Amino acid sequence: MTNSADIDIAPTRSVAGPPRLVRAAVSMPDMTTTVRQLDTDAAVGAVGWLEVESSAVCGTDVGLYRAGLDSPTVLGHHVVGTVVSLDETQSTAWRVRPGDRVALEEYLPCLRADCPACRIGDYRMCPHTDLFAGKQRVGLLSADDGAGLHGGNAEYMQLSANSLVYRLPADLDADLAAWTQPFANALDWTVDAGGAKEGSTVVVIGPGYHGIAAVAAARAVGAARIVVIGVPQSAGRLEIAESLGAVPVINNNHSLPELILRATGAEGADVLLDTVGLGGEAVAAAARVLRKRGRLVIGGLGSTPVCELDLKSLVRGANTIVGVRGRSPDAVARSIELLADGRSGLEIVPSVDVDLDQVDDMLGRMATGLGPVSPHVVIRPQLRRPTDQKRGTLS
Ligand SMILES: [Zn+2]
Ligand SMILES: [Zn+2]
Repeated sequence: MTNSADIDIAPTRSVAGPPRLVRAAVSMPDMTTTVRQLDTDAAVGAVGWLEVESSAVCGTDVGLYRAGLDSPTVLGHHVVGTVVSLDETQSTAWRVRPGDRVALEEYLPCLRADCPACRIGDYRMCPHTDLFAGKQRVGLLSADDGAGLHGGNAEYMQLSANSLVYRLPADLDADLAAWTQPFANALDWTVDAGGAKEGSTVVVIGPGYHGIAAVAAARAVGAARIVVIGVPQSAGRLEIAESLGAVPVINNNHSLPELILRATGAEGADVLLDTVGLGGEAVAAAARVLRKRGRLVIGGLGSTPVCELDLKSLVRGANTIVGVRGRSPDAVARSIELLADGRSGLEIVPSVDVDLDQVDDMLGRMATGLGPVSPHVVIRPQLRRPTDQKRGTLS
């Protein structure tokens, strides 16, 4: 599928295709990553190939890596690239041609007519794409499966008939393009699930990748007040949130409701987004400082996923508590639109660029909590130099 329904389709251009051997960062179950040459001729079910421009690292990658992968895997599921070959049937179906720049979603849905999720385009809820069940996802399939090129941490990756492909403007800045999926998640969670709109007070717990993107999403819809709460170790990320227009609050073992009330002039939150998985009593307590019709959006699961809720305050406030996962196709389309017309503000977040040889070091650091200050860590498989000086710092 594609977000661009109105483009003219010319006959598919002659197919250059990928080289036979391409470099890929293969991540192992023991938390190491090695760069290998993989053979594109071994691909099974490829309808085309993508030359990967960027593969942004998100918390899911780091969590999977830390927990121990099931098998060797080319990780990377926030993928942007240029289509270098595509069979004609797929080109017509997607309205995408070789030479087009696209973003992928990670879901590889079943697309069956009798799938209640796929039937309505709710691909994130297809049992095939479930992170804990079907596991049919970009950046999660085994490197032993066919060519193994199923993730973004490689020079090229295969496209399959069930890939979810969105055309990107050719001139969209590369750093912004890499935000397509996390910013779409943030729009889905903050605006669609959370109801953030012009004048809202939005409180975000956690200034990580999605927390920063949520600040940008709240700002893009005109939220009047955005507060981001983080632990003392996240001071650098709180500064980034502040430069996007949020009020930074350091939580030094204070009571969360107290911090929220203080930061919002005792008004509480219209939208309270937990990106870190506070869990337990902390979430239950925070739910009490929602404004009338306010919503608590839970985007992460901590170690204590069970809590007692004050139902009286929930009913009296006509409040909503909602869990979120991934994003809708519509959120991806809006993400691309906002990024392209410069309304995301995310250009101020430094991009930490990583080449394939640096993936081992970077994933290892992130998995042990020693990642860079900026949460925008982007693997650029075409980058050959150790670091690209014009971009963010690796320190
Ligand atoms: Zn992700
Ligand atoms: Zn399905």
